[in-house]
Amino acid sequence: MPTGSAKLVDWSTEQRRTIAGVTYLVPPEELDSVVGDGPRYRVDQLRDWLYRTPVLTADEMTNLPLGFRTTIADTLWPFDVEVEQTADRGSTIKWLFRTPSGASIEAVLMGYEKRTTLCISSQAGCAMACTFCATGQFGFERHLDAGEIVAQVAYANAHLRKAPMPRSPDHVTNVVFMGMGEPLANYPHVRESIRRMIETMGMSARSLTVSTVGAVPGMRKLAEEPWNVNLAVSLHAADDDLRSKLVPLNKRYPLRDVVDAADNYFRTTGRRVSIEWTLMAGTNDSPDQARKLAAIARELHAHVNLIAMNVTPLSDERPPEPARTRAFLSQLRDAGVNATVRDTRGREIDAACGQLRVRDAADVPDYPKITEAGGILTLDEAGVGDD
Ligand code: SAH
Repeated sequence: MPTGSAKLVDWSTEQRRTIAGVTYLVPPEELDSVVGDGPRYRVDQLRDWLYRTPVLTADEMTNLPLGFRTTIADTLWPFDVEVEQTADRGSTIKWLFRTPSGASIEAVLMGYEKRTTLCISSQAGCAMACTFCATGQFGFERHLDAGEIVAQVAYANAHLRKAPMPRSPDHVTNVVFMGMGEPLANYPHVRESIRRMIETMGMSARSLTVSTVGAVPGMRKLAEEPWNVNLAVSLHAADDDLRSKLVPLNKRYPLRDVVDAADNYFRTTGRRVSIEWTLMAGTNDSPDQARKLAAIARELHAHVNLIAMNVTPLSDERPPEPARTRAFLSQLRDAGVNATVRDTRGREIDAACGQLRVRDAADVPDYPKITEAGGILTLDEAGVGDD
């Protein structure tokens, strides 16, 4: 286990003590502790309401006794909904959830013709400090509990039952760990949340995608898990000089180690990894970077997702002109690489990639973050250290 995980257990216990019985923070196998002395089938009924057919209020759990519904009414969700915003004519919804500890969690729901994808957070804030990412600029606040991660999916499903999106599946079909945080730096809780999504909610491993900035020990551990989820690797630069400037973690786990761990993931699980590449004008959109990226993508048999830089208040990076993006894409394709430009959703509600959490620069507090190995928060404390 990463060194950082020792603290998680403490946090979790502490949190459970203060908000005892918050339903989604209780592992699904231990729900009898919530139901108490009632008949055995009540546990199954409650589990179904929480994970199979989630509802927004306990009141709607119609086959449970009224008294019980009242008891759990205020502790159903481990967070309040502070903000709900819609964009793209109702096909994008962003939620800002606030936990009792004050941490904010953001999730973005995107409806497409054949899938409804939820982008979830694994940490409040992020310690990785990638220069172009709003969450990274904000710093790290705390790891999320497995229950807080799964509750984002349950909440989106409960919402969709009430208000399905026009022309999209009426439940979450895909989950991507691309919201706030570095999922592999919160390994035990992310692992447990994946287990609950698969075993309790009934989702398939191939509908789940873990996205990492290159936390190598976590990538190697994930390859050994019983579920072959999709792995996306946020590369952004195809040589160490540039990558270390954009992604501080690259100093600890250089490009070659990240590529080797991605290759290991593909070989072990049989799942092709995808490479995420946020295109920044004048920074990583050159023909030289495209050529080096193509070589890596070919080696990994990986699909490349190009994301145009979404402007954030604390970074001067800008998206390239459309012609430059097209040229970059063509160069990859001409080199035989499967590549697409990812469609951007929710930009006007700050719900697009890398925009979560910061509304304006004045909003940035002094949470610790890694600027380099040995910075305020060590890499081990951030949960990405070796075992
Ligand atoms: N820590 C994980 C998951 C969160 S970020 C990771 O790095 O993969 C999800 C994706 O959004 C990453 O590929 C990230 O590089 C990208 N991203 C971050 N900031 C962005 C920005 N300002 N514009 C576009 N994409 C961004």
